[in-house]
Amino acid sequence: MTASYLMHAYSRQAISFERGLGARLWDSEGREYLDAIAGVAVTNLGHAHPEIAAAIADQASRLIHTSNLFGIEWQEQLGARLCALAGMDKAFFCNSGAEANETALKLARLHAQRRGIAQPLVVVMDNSFHGRTFATLAASGNPAVHQGFAPLMPGFIRVPFNDMAALRQCAEEHPDIVAVLLEPVQGEGGVHVADPAYLQQLRALCDVRGWLMMMDEIQTGLGRTGEWFGFNHAGITPDVITLAKALGNGVPIGACLARGDAAALFLPGNHGSTFGGNPLACRVGCCVLDISEREQLPQRARRSGERLLSGLQARLAGHPGVRGVRGHGLMVAIEMTKPCTPLVERALRTEALLINVTRERTVRLLPPLICTPVQIDQIVERLSRLILRWLADEATTERSAQAATAELAGG
Ligand SMILES: *Cc1c(COP(=O)(O)O)cnc(C)c1O
Repeated sequence: MTASYLMHAYSRQAISFERGLGARLWDSEGREYLDAIAGVAVTNLGHAHPEIAAAIADQASRLIHTSNLFGIEWQEQLGARLCALAGMDKAFFCNSGAEANETALKLARLHAQRRGIAQPLVVVMDNSFHGRTFATLAASGNPAVHQGFAPLMPGFIRVPFNDMAALRQCAEEHPDIVAVLLEPVQGEGGVHVADPAYLQQLRALCDVRGWLMMMDEIQTGLGRTGEWFGFNHAGITPDVITLAKALGNGVPIGACLARGDAAALFLPGNHGSTFGGNPLACRVGCCVLDISEREQLPQRARRSGERLLSGLQARLAGHPGVRGVRGHGLMVAIEMTKPCTPLVERALRTEALLINVTRERTVRLLPPLICTPVQIDQIVERLSRLILRWLADEATTERSAQAATAELAGG
C-alpha cells in the first residue's frame, strides 16, 4: 500500500470492501465474506437493503437538507415513532452516538441548574463506553480512551457496574449527584449485562433522589438485545435514552429521547446541530423502523442470538483457553484466557469472517439482525474452528518455546 494521507487514528485491516448484500460482503478481489459485526452494530438490516437504498435515492432527489431553522416533516415523524416505541415524550436529533450522549449530559446540567446545584455530578460505570468527545470520554470507564487527554472534564463519579451497594454509598457521600448514565449491556466493555433487579433498584433510587436515569442504548437499541431497547428486559422506563448506531443502518444519525420534566429542559438557544435530523437521515430512520417492525427484528434477534450462543457454547465452553461464552440477544462474546486480537486478521484470511475483539481478550459478535439461521450456523462453524485451531497453534508454539528453553538450560 502507498503512504496514506489519513491520520493514524485506527489500526486497520489491509482488506477493503467494495460491495455488500445482507450479511455478506465482497472485497476488491471479489472474495466473499460473512459479516458478524455489522459495522459495529450499525447495519442491523444488512448491507444494500433495497428499501433503504430506494428511500435514500428518492429523498436525495427531493431534499437532503434545509437546517433546523425550518420545520422538517420526516424529523417530526421519526421523533413521534421513536417516542412511542420507547415510552418517551420528546426527541432531539444529532449525527452520532457521542453527540447523543453529549445531549443527555447537557440535559443533566440543566436539570442540576433547576435544582440549584452548582457543581453537579453524573454517576457513570466502570468499564463503560460512551464516546470520544471530551465529555463522553470522561464519562467512559476505560483508562485507555483517557490516555493523553488530561485534564479530563470534571463532573463524573464512577462506580462498579451492577453493584447497588456501591451506588447507595455513593449517593450518601455525594449530595450533588443529579443523574446516572449507563449502558444496559456494556458492549465495548465486553458484553456485560445489567441485572434486571439492578436496573429496577436504580430506577427506584433515581425516583427517590430526583436523579435522571439516563440509558445509553446506542449499541443495544432497536432490537439488538431481543427487545426494542435494553431497558425493556427490566420492565422499567428511564428518563433519558440515547440512540445512534442502528438508527440509520449506516446513514449517520443520533437521537436523545427524554420524558417528563427532562423532555422540557431545552429552550431555543440551549442546544443545536447543523446536520442533526435532516430530511435524508430521518427518512432513513423511519424506513429502518418500518422494516424492523414488519420483520419483527427484536424477536428475530432473540431467536438468532439463542441459536448463536448455544452453538458456540456447545463447541467452545469449558475448553482450556476459553474463559466463558455469554450473550444477550444478538450480542455475543467469547472471553479468552489471554489476549486474542490476532484472531481478527486470521478470521478474515482463513474463514472469510468479520469479527471483533474488544478489551484484548473478548471476541465480540454483532451480526446483522436479518441473518438467516443458515448464516448463524456458518458463523458458529467458522468461528469455533478458527478459535480451536488458534488455541492448538498457540499451544504448539508454547511447547516449542519451552523445549528451546529447556535445551538451553540443559546444554
Ligand atoms: C458506539 C457507541 C458510542 C459512540 O458512538 P459514536 O457514533 O461512535 O460517537 C457511545 N455509546 C455506546 C454504548 C456505543 O456503543
